[in-house]
Amino acid sequence: MIYHHLALNVPLYCLFTYVHDAVLVPGTRVCVPFRNKLVVGVVWAAAVTPDIDVAKIQPIQQVFDAEPRLPESWLALLDFTARYYHYPLGQAALAALPQGLRQTRAVRLPEPVRHYTLSILGRQHAPPPIRHAKQVALWQVLSKGTADMAALKAIYVQAAKYIQIWQDAGWITVQTEAAYRASPIDGHVLNPEQQAASQAVQAALPEFVPFLLYGITGSGKTEVYFDIMDKVLAQGRQVLFLLPEINLTPQLLKRLSQRFAQTTTAVLHSQMAAGARTQNYLRAALGQAALVVGTRLAVFTPMPHLGLIVVDEEHDASFKQDSELRYQARDLAVWRARQAKCPIVLGSATPSLESWHKARMGDYTLLTLTQRAHAAAQLPQVHLVDTRRLPLDQGFTEVVKEKLQANYASGGMSMVYLNRRGFAPALFCSACGHVFGCPHCAAKMVLHQRAHQLRCHHCDYRMPVPSVCPECGNQDLTAVGQGTQRLEETLRHWLPGARVARVDRDSTSHKQDWAQLYEHIARNEIDVLVGTQMLAKGHDFARLNLVVVVNADGSLFSADFRASERLFAELMQVAGRAGRADLPGEVWVQTQQPENKVYQALKAQDYTRFADAELAERRDMAMPPFAHMAAVRADARTMQAAQQLLRTVMAASVQQHGLPEHVNQFGPVPMLMARLAGYERAQVFLESRSRRDLHRAVSWWQTALLAEAKSHPHIRWLIDVDPMEL
Ligand code: ADP
Ligand code: ZN
Repeated sequence: MIYHHLALNVPLYCLFTYVHDAVLVPGTRVCVPFRNKLVVGVVWAAAVTPDIDVAKIQPIQQVFDAEPRLPESWLALLDFTARYYHYPLGQAALAALPQGLRQTRAVRLPEPVRHYTLSILGRQHAPPPIRHAKQVALWQVLSKGTADMAALKAIYVQAAKYIQIWQDAGWITVQTEAAYRASPIDGHVLNPEQQAASQAVQAALPEFVPFLLYGITGSGKTEVYFDIMDKVLAQGRQVLFLLPEINLTPQLLKRLSQRFAQTTTAVLHSQMAAGARTQNYLRAALGQAALVVGTRLAVFTPMPHLGLIVVDEEHDASFKQDSELRYQARDLAVWRARQAKCPIVLGSATPSLESWHKARMGDYTLLTLTQRAHAAAQLPQVHLVDTRRLPLDQGFTEVVKEKLQANYASGGMSMVYLNRRGFAPALFCSACGHVFGCPHCAAKMVLHQRAHQLRCHHCDYRMPVPSVCPECGNQDLTAVGQGTQRLEETLRHWLPGARVARVDRDSTSHKQDWAQLYEHIARNEIDVLVGTQMLAKGHDFARLNLVVVVNADGSLFSADFRASERLFAELMQVAGRAGRADLPGEVWVQTQQPENKVYQALKAQDYTRFADAELAERRDMAMPPFAHMAAVRADARTMQAAQQLLRTVMAASVQQHGLPEHVNQFGPVPMLMARLAGYERAQVFLESRSRRDLHRAVSWWQTALLAEAKSHPHIRWLIDVDPMEL
């Protein structure tokens, strides 16, 4: 009888012992009974000495030995992740698996991928008639080399039909061997800066070197990634490409699938159907997929031949998961690159201050692109409009209104960008000043005029727009603030005939909606885009030449020390959207704080200036990245109960261990968003210059919490290491 330690999806900080009649290799997926249920487990260690009564140890019921085993490197990654984020190992391990592997049955293994190309007969045959442009595009790819169905469908959704027809005609041959295929070099000829950046990374191969690729918007970072990826793929190694949340990046996915049409690619993100995600995960793990493209969760994908990691838009907040296992995928990606002994490239036009600091300290090698890649594309001109001095009409100053009208008249495309953070249209009683708050959380209700509803943007509570003030009975309720919907109406009124489109979470909640809107934009069918942060991400709108920013000041007064950094990054991205092609762009920012360093650096289009000034301030305040932070949180029905639990736990921890050395403890305090979905949320901050001291203190808290929380079953608690939400 052989005893094994298994990781199970159970909220306990331990492994579980089970018995089997043969040795199972760590990484094997199994099925075991746990509390009268069958659950999935992953073998973590074999031939262990049991530390509980052997009579109580149950046998492993099923072994999925036909499946690829999770490799040692994966087990090590999850070991590290669970320790670093103080999260139960079994829960971390299971959360890192796609749904198909969390189920108690064997998984279907992916078919080898079929690669199509023109046969000799096909090559002698004439291509489809020119008027069938998509068929011609398919034919061209097939005549240049091989491509799999996913790549072909990216070119033409009806690819399967035509491949079948052409296959029946004998014009196509199918191959099913391994996945690695260098792509045809039909990218741009790199300019000297791009060349230098690419060369620096290639020179590091195959060693671990972390690079920060800092390049202004439009400087051609993507082409640099692609050039390096080409070289690595050609060596038969795998590439992991991480990008921000997927619904905003169909454009990048398209560029990837065009450039790497002949490389088997596995796409992984949370909005995919579970079955497809499991299959793609297995393709990567089996080495069938050479290129793995995904959002943060893809960082946990086993890749036996990993040779390069790219993290695009590395500053993006979506790399940090803000529930359950609160990992930062960018940081884990660096850890993985070190483990796999391969280079990693973190790219951004506005790097996170964490990464910028590491580059300044020499921990990361800094690569810089200072020029826009299109020779004709110029940097936008940024104008600050002081709204302390100028009257507003429907939220706009006269000068900005005229700019918008003139730009429409001359056929340009405009974008009106609204910073929604800490700001939304609300209903307000003009007699007594009553504001409508959410009855379930601390948020203000947001007015949705079209739906005739008030909605809470935090817990999603909805109610019809009231007709009288509940406090004074006044019937004159006024809409305050400038939401995207009101801006849209104002613009339609001012620009008769203009095609105005709104982009925010309400109008583009589905991937499909965004793809459609993008098609409209690409076909020149939009004159004015109105929207929030969602517009800031890496889209390339050739005709866009005027950006107007209204009401961004809220972020400058935020209690969150990262608010300025986020605002600056967003505005730089938005500004970078203007004037990408041959048209010079203009940016007009309405603000009451034109002297603020965020706006001054924006005007100068100077990330470095902002980043170094902001870092100096963080150093003075001993804030990240100069100190490391963890938050211990309690969520309860009342703020008092939440804070009381944290106080009790702190006292218990101090009594047992004394005060942690070199660690500052603050709180308990309510979170910035103190009430959420019926819970009151409090937290204690732990801060230290030393990671090790911080982790020791967090472990003490963890032990004390585990002991104390048992007697408070209605209070949820969690630990957030390197928290982003304050
Ligand atoms: P970034 O990722 O830095 O925003 P991209 O890689 O998207 O920049 O490049 C911006 C634009 O410049 C794209 O339209 C791209 O096709 C073009 N481009 C990139 N590199 C070159 C180059 N070497 N020569 C000409 N055009 C280029
Ligand atoms: Zn609410």
